[in-house]
Amino acid sequence: MFYRLNRFDSDPVAFCANQHPDWLPTFAPLIFMLMLAELGLGALIQAPLVWLVAPVLFALCVVCPRSQWMSGLGFVALLNRDIPIRSAIALGIVGLLGSGVRVYLLRQEWQQASQAMLASLIQDETALTPEHAIQQALTALKKITGATGAIALRQLDEVTAEALAALPHNILPDRLTTPMLFAEALSQNQCLHYSDYASTPQASPALLAQGVRSIAVLPLQQVENVQGAIVLLWHQRINPSRSLQQFLDSLRGGLGNLLRFQDLTLRFDQLQARFEAMLETIPQGIVFIDESGEQGWINHTAAKYLNLAHGAVEPSAIAQAMVALRLKADNQAEIAAQAAELFTQPGAKIRDWHWFLSDPQPIVLSLSSTPTDGRDVPGRLWVLDNITERKQAELAMQTARELAESATRAKSEFLANMSHEIRTPLNGILGYAQILEKDRSLNEFQKKGVGIIHQCGEHLLTLINDLLDLSKIEAEKMELVPQKFHFPSFLEAIADICQIRAEQRQITLIYQPRLPLPQYVYADEKRLRQILLNILGNAVKFTEVGSVLFQVGCIENTKVRFEIQDTGIGIAPEQLEAIFSPFQQVGESDRKTEGTGLGLSISSQLLKIMGSEIHVNSTLGKGSTFWFDLVLPEVEARSRSADPSTASPCAVVGYAGRPRSVLVVDDQAANRSVLVHLLEPLGFNVIEAENGQVALREAHQNKPDAILLDLVMPVMDGFEAVRQIRQSPDLRDTIVIATSASVFGYDQQASHDSGCNGFIAKPIRETELLAQLQTHLDLEWHYEAEIETSREHTVSENALDPIVAPPHAELNTLFDLARMGDLKGILEQATHLEQQNPEWEPFVVQLRRLAQGFKERQILELIKRYQG
Ligand code: ADP
Repeated sequence: MFYRLNRFDSDPVAFCANQHPDWLPTFAPLIFMLMLAELGLGALIQAPLVWLVAPVLFALCVVCPRSQWMSGLGFVALLNRDIPIRSAIALGIVGLLGSGVRVYLLRQEWQQASQAMLASLIQDETALTPEHAIQQALTALKKITGATGAIALRQLDEVTAEALAALPHNILPDRLTTPMLFAEALSQNQCLHYSDYASTPQASPALLAQGVRSIAVLPLQQVENVQGAIVLLWHQRINPSRSLQQFLDSLRGGLGNLLRFQDLTLRFDQLQARFEAMLETIPQGIVFIDESGEQGWINHTAAKYLNLAHGAVEPSAIAQAMVALRLKADNQAEIAAQAAELFTQPGAKIRDWHWFLSDPQPIVLSLSSTPTDGRDVPGRLWVLDNITERKQAELAMQTARELAESATRAKSEFLANMSHEIRTPLNGILGYAQILEKDRSLNEFQKKGVGIIHQCGEHLLTLINDLLDLSKIEAEKMELVPQKFHFPSFLEAIADICQIRAEQRQITLIYQPRLPLPQYVYADEKRLRQILLNILGNAVKFTEVGSVLFQVGCIENTKVRFEIQDTGIGIAPEQLEAIFSPFQQVGESDRKTEGTGLGLSISSQLLKIMGSEIHVNSTLGKGSTFWFDLVLPEVEARSRSADPSTASPCAVVGYAGRPRSVLVVDDQAANRSVLVHLLEPLGFNVIEAENGQVALREAHQNKPDAILLDLVMPVMDGFEAVRQIRQSPDLRDTIVIATSASVFGYDQQASHDSGCNGFIAKPIRETELLAQLQTHLDLEWHYEAEIETSREHTVSENALDPIVAPPHAELNTLFDLARMGDLKGILEQATHLEQQNPEWEPFVVQLRRLAQGFKERQILELIKRYQG
């Protein structure tokens, strides 16, 4: 940092030393000239001696500091007998006059000296540090005052003062001293002189030890925290003249400013040091250029990038270096375009321009720039940040993400393909299990076996579906399909399903809706059912004794709470978190084989997608409570169309009206066989085809009412077949229902786009199949109970095989059991009735079959008929 202080024409020190005010440097030449002129004149006119002595005496009395001695000389002459008395008196008067003039001129000289010195302190021509200026001032003062030493002191705090400069430099043994040296002068705010320093109570031992006898203290005070003093020291006792005292006092203001200047400089230096340290420490490159082209500054890091020396640099050199760097960038065209845009809006801020450099090593610089405006000089501050590591990390993350995504995709595809492969044989297994379960000729053992096959097939299907759900969730492909549905019957149906399971396990399931419930809601019914069945299923599965309580009710306006409480085995606190992770089955239970360990994980993820979360409270050995809240706003009621989920297709045994024909198209003979055996007993004429081409031929020949069309087949696939059907004038209106083991939503969409009327996923469920046929062929089903009844009527009318029902009391018991869904109780009661009266056997057979098929509604209808 540089300061400019003015200097006098000559050095102030030299000025003060050679032209001491006491020697009247300004007036002495004039006086001597006057004296010489008078001497010359006296000689010319041969004036008496006294006329020649008088001007010499006058000049000496004016100029010589010891002038009193000179005037004394005049009086001495008075006593000399050789000199006439009048001349002696005249010389004495001349001496006195000279002394008087000297006093006046002396004052003028000191005033001039003080002005000259002040001017030397504040004028601004030569660069000087404040310390240097203080040093100069001390030297001048020391010379002028004839002091042995001079010290400039600055107070640091209450007990410490610092010597800013000292002459001679060893006058103080230590740079740090005490403010006591100048405390009194500061408090009196005036220059103090101590002629006998040793006698002052606060005398500094250090100074006394140096032989100091007198001191003068000039207090310097600018603002409260900038104060100090200049101390002048003499080794002899002195009584400073009035002129000197006035001179010193007159300097106080100027010297005080110097002290303040020194203080500001110090602070500025400290600030600058901190700022520079910061700029040199931060890892970013900093470049400042002002637009006047005068100032440019770069830090160490920027200097490295720009190949320049750090610190102040010509702005033009910086600009050139930046252009050179830009031209080395791999993306210089892009940068040039950005820069061109910047030039159109000079005040624009720049954020995060990326410069990709590959020479000498690959780096990525991020450039930001902000316009600055210092005292109306516009400039720009550039920050160059090396973001190579960040970019590399981003790149690595991007690659990892892409890898992970492609792995997830591959996994999803693999799962989907596997699922397709597994569903195809499963279609046969589950299809035939459904067909065989209806076969009355099977004995108990066979029926049980078929039941197990059905159960295992269902379990396998659940596993596949769960895995697919999980992979869909992981791939973030799970989408909700909200629709309107009747909320109370939805909940009842779920409770009914779990009721059967609960009864098998001999525990109670209590469904407790807290009314009022919304009637129709808009939500993803399938997914909500999946969640509730999972949690309720777990509650039943993990409860040995006691009950499961299923409560649903509104807790706020549209917020519905679902709570499932059981008195089961409970979950250890440390395992509460784990149960929501995939494949986590906790506890020692042998029920692990019954589940997949995926249910809760899927449920919690589904709820997250629905904007909710699942909570659990559990005590080991006592039971668990699972709950979640969902916002389910009530929506307007809709007309209830035939709802396949509420129908009882298992009981379907035929349909009203003319026989319909169905063309079953599937390359897998097993799949065709399942459909043939499901449909033929209901009175459909079934025609088979193993690919699209054969199907078209058969369709043209037989004009079926409906075609059940597999999508993936050799020779001609289902998509092509349906396209041709829709183009054929004969067939274009035929109902075509796609069947597919594919789980890709787009297959369903594609089949719809190709012209299919419906879609059934494999493995085909009888309920779904019948519901689709009912919808598209507008069928009216005949149910088993109706047939039985009409047969009963026929039979009883013919009096061939009359069904004898048990008495009312027994029927009432059965009715209560059926209403509670206690199928186990019904089966026990059936055995009991059979043993009581063989006549009731036909009734019991029918009852047992319905109970084994979990057909509570038909049981209720059957009992009601006989209750009359
Ligand atoms: P799983 O198919 O095994 O039931 P879930 O993901 O549904 O898989 O549940 C994970 C595990 O959480 C279960 O295996 C069981 O250990 C525990 N669990 C879930 N619900 C309950 C419950 N109501 N009582 C006790 N343990 C439970």
